[in-house]
Amino acid sequence: MKFNQFVIIGLGRFGSSIGRELIQLGYEVLGVDRDEEKVHEMSHVLTHTIIADATEEEVLRSVGARNFDCGVVAIGDDIQASILATILLKELGVKKVVAKAVSDLHGRVLQRIGVDRIIYPERDMGVRLAHQLVSPNLLDYIELSKQYTIAELQVPSCLEGKSLDDVNPRGRFGCSIVAINKPKGIIIAPVAKDVLTTNDVMVVIGTNDQIEQFQQSIGQ
Ligand code: ATP
Repeated sequence: MKFNQFVIIGLGRFGSSIGRELIQLGYEVLGVDRDEEKVHEMSHVLTHTIIADATEEEVLRSVGARNFDCGVVAIGDDIQASILATILLKELGVKKVVAKAVSDLHGRVLQRIGVDRIIYPERDMGVRLAHQLVSPNLLDYIELSKQYTIAELQVPSCLEGKSLDDVNPRGRFGCSIVAINKPKGIIIAPVAKDVLTTNDVMVVIGTNDQIEQFQQSIGQ
């Protein structure tokens, strides 16, 4: 489903950065915050902004929150406000509600009330950075499940000029290179004769163990 209109509750660092990016991407964004200063800062950036307490049902009703495709609850410290605003967005019929959680307990409560996606920005960024610190060529990764990951690896100099057939991660470790991002463009589902160079980024899918073994074999 493609979303066009977003409502963001809470214009702190997290909420305002989501809002800025959505606007850059060409979407319409309504920002709601009870703090006048925060709203003032974002009023020239977002499509609409209002100063209001998002735990008041009438407020969300009057701004037509139910007409938005996606709601982001970006309130951290005030867990009660985060939960109430989330419930209200769900009850008003916002199609997808994403909420930020600051602790496991906060996240569990959000899950219970049926939030569609829970984000733990600080925790997730910390985990991501730790992985990148210990594997300098790991650019990014997505955990598909506890076991499976998609990792973006910078091609190291030891693989310069080698074909996928030479490298053969599937035969050796069980993980597969599903795309090669080259400066000229991305090759999706590369074939055995495709050649790697150090400017490329490999997109690798497999279990965490398989990817780790592959990384170790290429000195990462
Ligand atoms: P960040 O890390 O994103 O800066 P935070 O996790 O510290 O934020 P808070 O500062 O508690 O979270 O909340 C983010 C924003 O949400 C603040 O600008 C705050 O004014 C706003 N906010 C909190 N409660 C409400 C509410 N009930 N209605 C509207 N806005 C609210």
